[in-house]
Amino acid sequence: MENSQNYYCTNCGKPMNKQAEFCTSCGVKQGKVINYCYNCGSTIEPNQEICLTCGVNPRKIKRTGAAGSAAAPVRAAGSSVVNPILATIIGLFIPGLPSLIWFGQKTKGIVMIIAFLLGIFIIPIAGPWIVAIFGAIDAYQLAGRVNNGETLDEWTFFWNK
Ligand SMILES: [Zn+2]
Ligand SMILES: [Zn+2]
Repeated sequence: MENSQNYYCTNCGKPMNKQAEFCTSCGVKQGKVINYCYNCGSTIEPNQEICLTCGVNPRKIKRTGAAGSAAAPVRAAGSSVVNPILATIIGLFIPGLPSLIWFGQKTKGIVMIIAFLLGIFIIPIAGPWIVAIFGAIDAYQLAGRVNNGETLDEWTFFWNK
């Protein structure tokens, strides 16, 4: 039975975002090493063609939103989907906070919050707004990319590829 909700890393077996190309626990590209069934997380022997627990072919990984349709990203019901509007609003009032809570960019998030606070003192009125508008654009763009299953680096900004 194909499982529509969950996805497991084929290398370490940890549950992960179905649309992500790389595991956030072990960093291995999906489908490269098959130690675990992507569909149910059971262990797979090197020569095994079918998962004995759920019956899928562990080497033919089916992922929602992956290859096939170039259409709009498929939004899973999972909590890994970031609401771009919410991210933009939070990014506007507390630049860097969306990076901290959704994008896994701890250092960048903290640096942006510090820049925002410093802006208040260095360039009164204009300073914080520059950082806030920057934070809102960054949050909006990166939320879209996270929803597309992209894994962001620590220092990915909206202009980075
Ligand atoms: Zn893994
Ligand atoms: Zn299985």
